[in-house]
Amino acid sequence: MAHAIRLRQEHIDAMVKHALEDAPIECCGILAAVDGEVVSVHRARNVEASPYRFSIHGLEQRRIEEAIDESGAHLAGFYHSHTGSEARPSPTDIRMMNAFFGPPYVHFVIGVSDRENPVVRVFYIEDGASSEQEFEVVH
Ligand SMILES: [Zn+2]
Repeated sequence: MAHAIRLRQEHIDAMVKHALEDAPIECCGILAAVDGEVVSVHRARNVEASPYRFSIHGLEQRRIEEAIDESGAHLAGFYHSHTGSEARPSPTDIRMMNAFFGPPYVHFVIGVSDRENPVVRVFYIEDGASSEQEFEVVH
């Protein structure tokens, strides 16, 4: 099976750092890619400011997507953290993302309930469900 997405260790580190900084509030952000390989990680503000859910303001999302477009990359997907639960999309995450961000968009969930051992997993969301995918760390 082809990897859903490729990224560098620095991109993983950036998502984990964001998750640890914002815990117990969920963090969130957007990934840009070129040819299936992540080129940048964009932090966004969780307007819910909640430990249980996240959402990105529509205007902020549009501003980030425009910046990604202008840089010649494309929207690869999203990341957010789970600060007290398992690192997989919640029913709320699936409901929110199902309509517009199915494959090839990826959804990283960064689990930081154990701060010493962050968990990084990536999923596709479609047909009202999530399916875990593999990612590749490139050098
Ligand atoms: Zn979630």
